[in-house]
Amino acid sequence: MATSDPVPTYGARNWCVVGGGLLGLTLAHRLAEAGERVTVLEAAPTLGGLASAWRLGDVIWDRHYHVIMLSDFYLRRLLSELDLEREIRWTVTRTGFYCDDHLYRLNNAIDYLRFSPLGLIDKVRLATTLHRMSRIKDGRKLERIPLTDWLIRLSGKRTFEKIWRPLLRAKMGENYAKASAAFIWAYVNRLYAARRGGLKTEMFGYVPGSYARILERLEGLLTGEGVTIEAGSPVQRIERTADGVRVTTPRGETDFDQVVVTAAGPLAARMCAGLTADENERLNGVLYQGIVCASVLLKRPLAGYYVTYIADEAVPFTGVIEMSALVDPAEHFGGHALVYLPRYAVAGDPYFEMSDDEVEERFLAGLAKIYPAIGRDDVLAFRISRVRNVYAISTLNYSDRLPPMTTSVPGIHIVNSAQIVNASLAVNESVALAEQAVPRLLAHARADPPRRVREQEPA
Ligand SMILES: Cc1cc2nc3c(=O)[nH]c(=O)nc-3n(C[C@H](O)[C@H](O)[C@H](O)COP(=O)(O)OP(=O)(O)OC[C@H]3O[C@@H](n4cnc5c(N)ncnc54)[C@H](O)[C@@H]3O)c2cc1C
Repeated sequence: MATSDPVPTYGARNWCVVGGGLLGLTLAHRLAEAGERVTVLEAAPTLGGLASAWRLGDVIWDRHYHVIMLSDFYLRRLLSELDLEREIRWTVTRTGFYCDDHLYRLNNAIDYLRFSPLGLIDKVRLATTLHRMSRIKDGRKLERIPLTDWLIRLSGKRTFEKIWRPLLRAKMGENYAKASAAFIWAYVNRLYAARRGGLKTEMFGYVPGSYARILERLEGLLTGEGVTIEAGSPVQRIERTADGVRVTTPRGETDFDQVVVTAAGPLAARMCAGLTADENERLNGVLYQGIVCASVLLKRPLAGYYVTYIADEAVPFTGVIEMSALVDPAEHFGGHALVYLPRYAVAGDPYFEMSDDEVEERFLAGLAKIYPAIGRDDVLAFRISRVRNVYAISTLNYSDRLPPMTTSVPGIHIVNSAQIVNASLAVNESVALAEQAVPRLLAHARADPPRRVREQEPA
């Protein structure tokens, strides 16, 4: 059957979407819109994955910091369907940079000219590097160039050592040495997209109530479309049987016609039975970056920068995100300051195993190094999120080694954030990936009709 044929009339197929993050929920929504029957199985007790919300003292907000950008077309369209787009609050934010025991302001050209860690020639080279990156439209060619080589060539060795290397280590640990130039291109490009012309200031947005509210609306929409949602259902095994695809969770076995896994590559490889050696190798070969991210509720604000980049290896976290510099603290945080301290971490990072108390101790010592006026008495609540598979590092020739969406096992598909190329990890990209995947999934499903349908079809 050609992919352009209309959906056959023999009835909806039963789909299982594994993973209730924004990718899985968007897939479920679009499949349901196409007339399919969908069940979402999410391992965690709540929906949202990396974008889920939690309680911090008296505040409910995202467990990882999230902003919306003006250029987040797919996300904003989804928010329109949820009737939330018009509620987005847009704010001009400010940026800080911490190095050489000093907190610098980096909001405009004058701040940049005053930025003393770099000499004038280095500044010109850095500005030229950023400008050149912003003009590249397709980053796939950069996948062939080692990141370090590219940055040294464009910005010079001094600027690389002073600025780029600490920032790259902050984002990827020692994995930066394995990354391609496409990684930094995608990252810088997303930041550039947040800038308005003229003043070149950053505009970030948020929905009042955070992703907690977005997810509640999305769940309501899905339920209204007839989607079954089962949180607290970790999928253990997915296998092809004579009747379709069997999915096993601790609650038992269920047969579906089609299954889409949205979990990270190595998790997907573990769940799906019958994949080829090449598929397993591709899924397990994706190099993931993890995170240990603290949410801190403080009695008072820090410096009012939404993001402060940290280029100081003595500080255990790699950035400071002052959410209350963007979100109205009086309305949402009881007048307090909500701050995130992310530590992007490689697989063996000791902070994954460290006790919460020890992480808190070390992180608060780091915070006091940057903001000496902030003491223990200012901390109202402190909570730590640890995730090992956050984003796939764009290694050399990454696109050539991507795991395919549709596997060799009929009815089993893997659509996950590792397939986001030419962009950096963001909800907008997850929504876009889901929307691009659905027509392909439907086309494959048509070529693999369920047994009950094959038996009904005329010979
Ligand atoms: C610190 C941080 C800051 C960020 N900031 C921004 C930002 O400012 N703006 C932005 O747009 N994006 C941001 N992001 C990125 C954004 O959160 C992600 O792009 C998005 O949430 C990814 O959604 P996903 O569904 O692809 O993956 P996930 O959210 O990881 O969803 C995968 C789901 O699969 C589930 N799962 C795994 N195994 C199983 C199993 N065996 N059975 C059932 N379920 C399973 C997981 O529990 C999870 O819920 C940020 C991310 C982080 C970590």
